[in-house]
Parts: sequence; structure tokens; C-alpha cells
Amino acid sequence: AGVQKLIPYKAGKPIEELERELGLTQIIKLASNENPLGPSPKAVTAMQAALADLALYPDGSGFHLKQALAAKYGLDASQITLGNGSNEILELVARAFLTPELAVVFSQHAFAVYPLVTQAVGATAIVVPACDYGHDLAAMAAAVTAQTRLVFIANPNNPTGTLLAQAELEAFIAALPETVICVLDEAYFEFVQQAGGGDSIAWLQKYPNLLITRTFSKAYGLAGLRVGYSLSSPELADILNRVRQPFNNNSLALAAAEAALADSEHLHNTISNNSEGMLQLTEGFKALGLAWIPSAGNFVAVDIGREGLPVYDALLHKGVIVRPVANYEMPNFLRISIGTAAENAVFLQALADVLR
Ligand code: PMP
Repeated sequence: AGVQKLIPYKAGKPIEELERELGLTQIIKLASNENPLGPSPKAVTAMQAALADLALYPDGSGFHLKQALAAKYGLDASQITLGNGSNEILELVARAFLTPELAVVFSQHAFAVYPLVTQAVGATAIVVPACDYGHDLAAMAAAVTAQTRLVFIANPNNPTGTLLAQAELEAFIAALPETVICVLDEAYFEFVQQAGGGDSIAWLQKYPNLLITRTFSKAYGLAGLRVGYSLSSPELADILNRVRQPFNNNSLALAAAEAALADSEHLHNTISNNSEGMLQLTEGFKALGLAWIPSAGNFVAVDIGREGLPVYDALLHKGVIVRPVANYEMPNFLRISIGTAAENAVFLQALADVLR
């Protein structure tokens, strides 16, 4: 029954197809929070080496990648679950823990996959009104009832970029009933500049109902390969491992992710490009008299003061793809992913032309 009411996640057309339709030679895509620098060259080399074993099934336990992640975070490999993107982890959590009798709490303007996975299993979504576009943790805590089995929190959140303070977040998790699993979605945590970003791993020891999700799609530039993971108690990981497909990560993806994890220089360059690009975009917005939501991610939601969809369309015809967020109840906003300096400049010029 839940499936009938699902509104599908809307992905864009292939770029070459758009270029053909619109008669453009080069489209810039600042729409999906991808890494404008691309993946680590070491990841590409590792994939090339892995091509030799394409006839074999991948390592279904993800042994090497889990070992590398465990070493990086000071955890045991039994606390890690690998997913086909962190989206798959979100889906596994819903499949493993929800029934139509149970409810899920998440915020207004939160990531679109939360309602999707909730409805797909027929559970009830309790959407808590946001506070200044961010999570209202007090209201979310108050929304938890005996039926609640899961809470989804994205920190930073997509599409708003809002960031919760670590102390406030920990107090929220500590106060949750033990029967409620808190899914802390940290898809963008590598971009968080504030001291203490990523502290959440230490909480795993204290809260067996905490599950942190992260991904190789954003800062690591491997969105096309689909690798995400969760960090949790071994008990939660064990349950997720039972419901996942045995070979949910392919061998090229496993090899690339492991190599990407070891390339701290590429990650550093990515983060620098992001902070410079964020400044470039927000100064551009200021010059155009536009307001934006301060963002801790690799994207920023800008208030264009009028309906976003026609502006999105006009930008598209100028060769820049951005993300309208009307489906997130933010009709006057566009979400822009940070690009290279050159891409950001082309976008700002196009935006100025369209709004003039
Ligand atoms: N969580 C959030 C908050 C996201 O924005 C995204 C990507 N749009 C994901 C999870 C899923 O990313 P992936 O499946 O590529 O790991």
C-alpha cells in the first residue's frame, strides 16, 4: 500500500542528451553535490588493476575496505556495514526495522530518501516542522511515541546545509528511548569545518541504538561507483548484514574506495576547493542582493526571491544545471553544488543574467 503512494526520486536526464536537446556544447552540472575535482587518481588506478578480476565475484564481506575504515576510525570491522551508496544503508535500515505499525521521525526539509524508504515499507512518517530550515531537535524529541522505531537526522542536512551543534545532538541521542534507532546521516561530514566535526564516532560506545552513515559519493568523488557505509554497534551491523544482498558492492567500487580513503591529499584539495568555492558563491549572492542559508556542506541553498523552477529552467538553457527544491517545500530556493572556481563563475554570471 505504501508503494502506491510513493513519489519517485527524480533524477536528471543524461548530460549529453540535454546538450543535444538544448543545442549546447558544454553543460555545467552543479546539481548533485558531486566532487568537481573528480575522484582521487589513486582510486582510478586501483580500479584499473581490479579490471583483471572482473570474472570473479567481488569480496562479499568487503574485507579490505572494512579493515581500512576500521583502522581510520579506531573501530572494529564488525561495526561496519557496506552499502551500494549510503542510500542502500538507509533502505536496509527501513527494511530491517520497520513494519506498517511503526513510525519514523524526521524533519521538514530533510533528505528525500527518508520519506521514500519509510513509505516503501508502509511505515508512518512523522515530519517535524523545521526551525530556521534546520532540525528542531526539541520538537523531534517530543514527536517520538511508543510507535517510533527510527529517527533520521542529516548533519549537515541536504538540501539546507544546516549543521547541528555536537553537544545538542548528543543530548538528543542520549535522551532517546533505547528502542528507537537514531540514524545519523553524515554524508557531508568531511566538509564540516567546525572543530569537533566527526566526533560522533565516540558516541557509538555509549549509544548502541546509534547508526552513523557516511559515503564515498561526496568528498571522495566516487558517486558513480555507489559506495556508502554505516558505523554502529556490532549488533545493529549484524542485522543489516543479514538483509543486504550478498554482493552489494562491486569489485571496482571496493578497490576504488579503499584507494580513495588512503589519498588524504586529494581529500584536502577537495575541502580547500569547497571552502573557496563557498566563499565565491556567497559573495556572488551578496552582490546580487540574494539571501542564502549558511551551509556546512558542499552546496548552498539560495533564496532567489521568486519561484525557483522558471529560474532553474532559464539557467538550464544557459548551460548550467542546478537543483530546484520545491519538492522540499522550498519553492523560492535553488540548491547549488560548489564547483571549480571557473564553474562557479559561469554559474554566477548566468544567474545574474537570468535575474536581471
Ligand atoms: N544522505 C544525504 C543527506 C545525501 O544528500 C545523499 C546524497 N544525495 C545521500 C545520503 C546518499 O548518497 P549516496 O547514496 O550516494 O551515498
